[in-house]
Amino acid sequence: MKKQTALFAAASTLLFMPSLTLAAPLDPKADAIAALRDKALNGDDIAYNIVEGLTTEIGPRQGGTDAEARARIWAVNKLKALGFDNVRVEEYQMPTWVRGEETAEITAPFPQKLAIAALGNSGSTGDAGLDAEIAYFPTIDDLRAAPDGSLKGKIAFVSHNMKATQDGSSYGAFGPARFVGPNIAAKKGAAAIVIRSIGTDYHRNPHTGNTNFEPGVTPIPAGALSIPDAENLERMISRGKPVRMKLKLTPQNIGMQTSGNVLAEVKGSSPKLPIIVIACHLDSWDLGTGAIDDAAGCGIIGAAAKHLKSMGQPKRTVRLLWAGAEEVGIWGGRDYGEKHANEPHALAMESDFGAGKVWAVDFRFPASATGLRTRIISALAPLGIVPRREIAGGGADVGAIIAAQKLGIVDLQQDGTKYFDLHHTPDDTLDKIDKVELRQNVAAWVATLALLANYEGELKPEPAQ
Ligand code: ZN
Ligand code: ZN
Repeated sequence: MKKQTALFAAASTLLFMPSLTLAAPLDPKADAIAALRDKALNGDDIAYNIVEGLTTEIGPRQGGTDAEARARIWAVNKLKALGFDNVRVEEYQMPTWVRGEETAEITAPFPQKLAIAALGNSGSTGDAGLDAEIAYFPTIDDLRAAPDGSLKGKIAFVSHNMKATQDGSSYGAFGPARFVGPNIAAKKGAAAIVIRSIGTDYHRNPHTGNTNFEPGVTPIPAGALSIPDAENLERMISRGKPVRMKLKLTPQNIGMQTSGNVLAEVKGSSPKLPIIVIACHLDSWDLGTGAIDDAAGCGIIGAAAKHLKSMGQPKRTVRLLWAGAEEVGIWGGRDYGEKHANEPHALAMESDFGAGKVWAVDFRFPASATGLRTRIISALAPLGIVPRREIAGGGADVGAIIAAQKLGIVDLQQDGTKYFDLHHTPDDTLDKIDKVELRQNVAAWVATLALLANYEGELKPEPAQ
């Protein structure tokens, strides 16, 4: 009876919907992957639980500090509880900088306090602070053009006005005010530097983040003003009188401290196939609880790997790298790249751009993987994700291993329009996570991983001609 019904159904399909007969599935697993994707999209709670747990039970967890050490223990317990294989910590030592007191006050001509946060690696003003005239530079290029020695005894102020972009590209364009501005100002003789926060919100929250001084350049005190305060300072300067600031930043270097990467695996059935590494970072800046940066990334990749495991053993091993210290100098990614340089890897992926929905996918694949690329694009299309012409670049924590082994890469690009409203501020907290968008991320990751981990062909791109 059943058989007859099935035959009748097949016959009526052929009669009335002939186009369906052409749609023989290219990939016998496509249906299973679609089901896994849709299950994650409609009901994953693993990713949110990771973000909720890490932000509640650990909170801020700057690399090299006791809080990061507690986060490592938390991560090991969580990954073991989720049933992953080979859960372990790989420790390393790193120089550690910690925040002290931080105040900024205009002393003339319009006395008032401003909201400031020290940048990572900032020098100290000492407890007495320093009171100096502001030298104003609308952009980082204006600072670069200042004559050597012209900033002697002054506090440089760079007000580089970042705009929001969906793909986050404005971070690359405006970030140098923070990344290298302090080093440039120090070399020109400045006593200190304050920058307009690298951010896109109008909350009175400064955005911290790392800066770096070249070897031989003595770090000067370096802070970020909240955006409303930076604009207020610009208006004071536009009145035409010299503006003086009293700045107190008392961070310290506490020397070499222990940090560590947490690794876990979904073990593959074919040990000869090079592995896939997927990364996030466990550490966060100290001002918020690091929900979007980057508990979300650890939640997304943790949940996706767990769902992958539920499909049965994949052919390739998928390794999770929850990097111990990214914010303060990519120490975790570098250590992973060194320790695993000789272990065969095929491909790397990373999630470190918040919890906004994935809108695009980029690849760095060999030409031979064109069919796989097509299957990934098809699996992502129902999630509203489109391929671009960009070449995937990976991310900070997989940068070293990609460079060492010239790996294939897939980037699932998240919408970053709002990311820099929160980035590195006290506002980076759990309530900013949109559960629906987080699930869409998990769905995109699991569909992509399921195809990659069961693909036996070459994933590394051909060497450049
Ligand atoms: Zn991050
Ligand atoms: Zn960050």
